[in-house]
Amino acid sequence: QSKPQARVDGSTGVTFSDVAGIEEAVEELQELVRYLKNPELFDKLGIKAPHGVLLEGPPGCGKTLVAKAIAGEAGVPFYQMAGSEFVEVLVGVGSARIRDLFKRAKVNRPSVIFIDEIDALATRRQGAFTDSKDQLYNAATQERETTLNQLLIELDGFDTGKGVIFLGATNRKDLLDPALLRPGRFDRKIKISAPNAKGRLEILKVHARKVKLSKSVDLSTYAQNLPGWTGARLAQLLQEAALVAVRKAHKAILQSDLDEAVDRLTVGPRRVAMELG
Ligand code: ATP
Repeated sequence: QSKPQARVDGSTGVTFSDVAGIEEAVEELQELVRYLKNPELFDKLGIKAPHGVLLEGPPGCGKTLVAKAIAGEAGVPFYQMAGSEFVEVLVGVGSARIRDLFKRAKVNRPSVIFIDEIDALATRRQGAFTDSKDQLYNAATQERETTLNQLLIELDGFDTGKGVIFLGATNRKDLLDPALLRPGRFDRKIKISAPNAKGRLEILKVHARKVKLSKSVDLSTYAQNLPGWTGARLAQLLQEAALVAVRKAHKAILQSDLDEAVDRLTVGPRRVAMELG
């Protein structure tokens, strides 16, 4: 039976300079970096160590990115798994994976554990009595609850000065079991929101560093005119524009390449080709 294990990055190489448009969240997360760089100091000064942080917000706005940046800034290992990787019908598998994950992270502390889509494993428990007659459903529910209980045990077992930060990400906070949100577990909840026009411009600038942009391009027009676009989509825009530029043998990305990329990402390449053809 295949055993998903946390993907480990010795160091993610991501820093806060790769993140834009969510300054307030970054400001708050700086404290975790300070802690990871010197957990003993927090202990010595009697400062309560931060340990569980819930990153909440819509998809593609930088939850994974910011989690990697915390580990990258502190230069510590990053253990990443998705909530769905703990969901198994077989009894005890999910909780064994939780134990294993925390054990590995503790051995290499200071370190960061990151569970994306934590709602998949930490949905509100329904209690022992479900009225479903479906045995498979009941077994799956029970297994998920055992896994969540194990996660709660691990979080409660965190001691000050141990140097492991646990980060969870979700875009469905409403589904989470209230026990997880109690103080001492996720003691902080940080909102990672979709960017406004200023944020979109900053995100475009961050990603523009990775491509060759003509000096004549005015990125602020795109930031103004693309409301609702997330960081993930804006990153994709510059990648797509670079592809258009290559196809047209331009030496750098021109405004017209970006316009075409916007069309492609908005209506899809096939429609654009049909209209052009
Ligand atoms: P999901 O909930 O889908 O996992 P997420 O919030 O974790 O989404 P990320 O995976 O962090 O989103 O974002 C995907 C990519 O989009 C990032 O690797 C980065 O290239 C870009 N991106 C997203 N948000 C930002 C941001 N605030 N600043 C810079 N780049 C961003």
